Amino acid sequence: MKRILITGGAGFLGSHLSERLLREGHEVICLDNFYTGRRANVVNLISNPMFEILRHDVCFPLYVEVDEIYNLACPASPIHYQFDPVQTTKTSVHGAINMLGLAKRVKAKIFQASTSEIYGDPLVHPQPESYWGNVNPVGFRSCYDEGKRCAETLFFDYYRQHNLKIKVARIFNTYGPRMHPDDGRVVSNFIVQALKGHPLTVYGDGSQTRSFCYVDDLIDGVVKLMDSSDKITGPVNLGNPDEFTILELAEKVIKLTKSTSRIIRKKLPEDDPAQRQPDIRMAKKALKWEPTVKLGDGLKETIAYFRKLIRQ
Ligand code: NAD
Ligand code: UDP
Repeated sequence: MKRILITGGAGFLGSHLSERLLREGHEVICLDNFYTGRRANVVNLISNPMFEILRHDVCFPLYVEVDEIYNLACPASPIHYQFDPVQTTKTSVHGAINMLGLAKRVKAKIFQASTSEIYGDPLVHPQPESYWGNVNPVGFRSCYDEGKRCAETLFFDYYRQHNLKIKVARIFNTYGPRMHPDDGRVVSNFIVQALKGHPLTVYGDGSQTRSFCYVDDLIDGVVKLMDSSDKITGPVNLGNPDEFTILELAEKVIKLTKSTSRIIRKKLPEDDPAQRQPDIRMAKKALKWEPTVKLGDGLKETIAYFRKLIRQ
């Protein structure tokens, strides 16, 4: 049994990770400032004596005694991370410095939730970990992309300089129950729009692609990486290589929800990556991990969640 700190533990991924680690018998400290996370995400865990919520901002130092740290704190959807871009960079950079300092003091192993945004609008397809990316340093997405890139740098400098045990995952678009209904990400947007009978808003011509990973698969990869040999530091891509255009996703959601909604076009946001697909050969080899949930099956679970949420 380990005592594990999860920053951003009340968010979409953090709540699923908390659940998984509690199920494995660990003690979980869920740290969150509730910027995009919600108490409702972890309400079922609160009665568990092995679970503890800590309202705290990772931009400030923290003193707790733990064996492992999963650093997930950071708004993840473009609407939320662009709302207060300076705070987004601070959360990634100051948050990483504070959590790495904590890991160094208590000799804890530390995981970083990095992102496919590291690759920017990629010129190499699919994206292997060896690709350095094509990121605009001064655009609307930069607060997130460059903040996460700097966090990766800090992780590797702490590894080289202080021998810290680090695990860095580059997470590709992940979806599932407990996504925030208003966070503007494409899967939640389309499902909520379809269920309410509103038009589905496709940005641009909808030919841009993404590869969507179901949350259970992703969490499995995250835990496998954390539990792997200390020699495996990453960065390692975690995502589902099945690639779809955004228009294909919209049509799939309409079909699965049996919605009468139509599709409308809206302006493509600046610097929106044209294509994205993870090369997961490293995760397959080093972690014996690959996703198993097909998009249609994962969407059905997610639709059922939002149907219930909207009815409440
Ligand atoms: P989310 O917005 O649901 O969760 C982020 C959590 O961090 C929230 O609970 C929020 O309140 C908390 N938080 C934000 N700023 C904080 C701060 N300063 N101090 C403490 N807590 C803070 O997003 P998510 O999808 O669960 O993403 C979790 C992590 O995974 C993020 O770091 C994100 O960048 C990364 N990631 C997610 C995806 C994805 O598709 N979901 C893809 C790539 C990377
Ligand atoms: N998108 C869209 N309609 C929406 C929300 C998003 O067409 O209502 C597009 C967006 O422009 C992008 C893709 O869907 O090309 C994925 O967007 P999301 O915000 O989910 O993630 P990210 O761009 O960070 O991969």
